[in-house]
Amino acid sequence: MGKRIVIALGGNALGDNLYEQMAAAKQTARAIADLVEAGCEVVVAHGNGPQVGMINLALESAAKTEAKTPFIPMSMCVAMSQGYIGYDLQNALREELLSRGNSTPVATIITQTVVDKDDPAFANPTKPIGAFYSQEEAQEMVARGMDMMEDAGRGYRRVVASPRPVDIIEKQTIKALLAAGQIAIAVGGGGIPVMREGLHLRGASAVVDKDFAAACLAEQIQADFLVILTAVEKVAINFGRADEEWLSELSIDQAQRYIVEGHFAPGSMLPKVQAAMQFASSGAGRSALITLLGKAKEGIEGTTGTTIRA
Ligand code: ADP
Ligand code: MG
Repeated sequence: MGKRIVIALGGNALGDNLYEQMAAAKQTARAIADLVEAGCEVVVAHGNGPQVGMINLALESAAKTEAKTPFIPMSMCVAMSQGYIGYDLQNALREELLSRGNSTPVATIITQTVVDKDDPAFANPTKPIGAFYSQEEAQEMVARGMDMMEDAGRGYRRVVASPRPVDIIEKQTIKALLAAGQIAIAVGGGGIPVMREGLHLRGASAVVDKDFAAACLAEQIQADFLVILTAVEKVAINFGRADEEWLSELSIDQAQRYIVEGHFAPGSMLPKVQAAMQFASSGAGRSALITLLGKAKEGIEGTTGTTIRA
């Protein structure tokens, strides 16, 4: 096949906690190894919702109880989650490949995603992160420059922006690994969000959507295929209703029409369809696939999943 692909792994590929992650990583490694064995050049991107939540919560409670523990910025929490998830994934994949007699090296790249400081998302942070706080605590945090929002009567939570990715700092390194026949795990959790300030990259208080970050990386490394692996085999219209219809092919125009008609839930299927559209329309011969984690190989062979092409 020889295709260059970026795989974006969803929450089900990693589980919700430490033990689930170790088990899930093995399953996930099988799906990825199938694509490597099929001759694809592979970059693996992944989400980090539960993991970054866990890291943020642990550090926040340490900061609440221990005066000497400083407040840890969101960008650093994302960096930590990349290391922790990458460690599990690269070892699971290494072991799976070795068991198949394949000694392709696998490494995790701590990846930074450039966002625009003028992105409108910064003016309207909406993504809740970490622990719940009292009104008093929330006021203190606002005074320290954080955005806090009341969350459904349960207390105050920090909210961060979810800006669009504009560039991937480590793209040359990722390309060099692919050119050397190696596998890269990159843009974990959408990448560490950074803003350019001259030569300096300043960590942004934000989280980048992993599907958009994977699409951005796929564009920049001239991939042929963006493969979004999630918990459904295909994209549907009228999802969850009696007249639900699963789609095998989706053109950009159709997708745009279905978006306007509200078929894709914001925060779950909508960013996937938008990321797929963005990549598929970024160059000739490029297409995107949305399918179930366990169906990755069949999806790539064209027998299942939803393919989005221009
Ligand atoms: P991930 O962790 O892989 O990013 P999400 O939960 O964010 O997964 O998004 C995938 C989910 O989107 C599916 O499991 C499904 O429940 C939901 N979904 C919402 N709208 C649709 C749709 N139109 N077609 C298919 N799935 C949809
Ligand atoms: Mg998601």
